[in-house]
Amino acid sequence: MSKLLGMPCPHCRTRAQVRTVKDLSPTLRWVYFLCNNLACGHSWVATLEADRTISPSGMPDPRIALPIMARREVEAVHAALQQSPQRSIFDDDPSI
Ligand SMILES: [Zn+2]
Repeated sequence: MSKLLGMPCPHCRTRAQVRTVKDLSPTLRWVYFLCNNLACGHSWVATLEADRTISPSGMPDPRIALPIMARREVEAVHAALQQSPQRSIFDDDPSI
């Protein structure tokens, strides 16, 4: 999982690893991180939430009601993906 979901340490900016996750709902989870820098050793909890729909599901769950992104937002997502197709929004670059 840590290769798919990463986050730099808020203190030393070293890439951290996911230790575990706790699902709070179908759209919300807590992610427990541990900094890979032994001199730092920071651990923390981050919140990951499904916030908006980019493309509707082919198997919609009637209990899930995520707002659909505005057309201009979807176009911005597509443009960002075309500029850097291998990049995850969870990569270490703090400029994101
Ligand atoms: Zn750290």
